[in-house]
Amino acid sequence: MNIRWYKYGMRVRINIRRDLPPILLMLIVWTAPVLLASCSKKTARISETPSSVAIATPVPHNADDMSKPVVYITIDDGPEPKFQQTVLPILQAHNCPATWFLVGRYMKVYPKAAAELVAAGQEVENHTWSHANLNKISGAQVRQEIQRTDDLIMAQTGQKTSFVRPPFGAHSKSVDSIITGMGKQTAMWTVSCGDYEQKGHPEVIIDNIAIDARPNSIILLHVVPQTAQALPELLARLEARGFRFALLKDRPAVVKQEKK
Ligand SMILES: [Zn+2]
Repeated sequence: MNIRWYKYGMRVRINIRRDLPPILLMLIVWTAPVLLASCSKKTARISETPSSVAIATPVPHNADDMSKPVVYITIDDGPEPKFQQTVLPILQAHNCPATWFLVGRYMKVYPKAAAELVAAGQEVENHTWSHANLNKISGAQVRQEIQRTDDLIMAQTGQKTSFVRPPFGAHSKSVDSIITGMGKQTAMWTVSCGDYEQKGHPEVIIDNIAIDARPNSIILLHVVPQTAQALPELLARLEARGFRFALLKDRPAVVKQEKK
């Protein structure tokens, strides 16, 4: 008998010998589900509470869906052309507009990527110029990281941004007040599974996110191959749970204090 599960991207397998005494065998069979449940719970809980999030008028992208609960797919660290080419058709097939937090210096390397996202109905937001830890640089440097990225987003897409997602989720009251002073909001997330660490294990991403998602969850994903692999089934699982997808800028003010 084989019992398998996944923990932190590692495949764990227990082989149970057929010649074990029956009572020992029954004990193993009884306790395995409990072990499995506690393991998957630990794996699933890498999440953060949002500090401040979108306030904007809701714009329905599909009026038929408006009674369904919403989740917000957000994708960090692009642009990454290969990921984008793979993922855009998947998002479109699932009627899933996503919010992409782009790094300015990568936008400079791939100057057409941001416009392609906007043309595909996606939202482009600010993830700083150099993916800096905003808690470790001066206020003037924080402003520069954000402004320089904003300027490039405007130049490449003609769009203003509404949010800054601090790299590594690192922010403070002073960072937040700089962001607010620039007319934007700090955008954190409520559901994450450390997808960037799950190389070769899209099933871990699918299971953890699909199980953890709640109405109004802000789901954090990254531009890594395993997430591209996970996305078709992940979106299908979220749809099967009755969710629809929306852009962060369309998140209604009434749910902005939602905590997971
Ligand atoms: Zn990042």
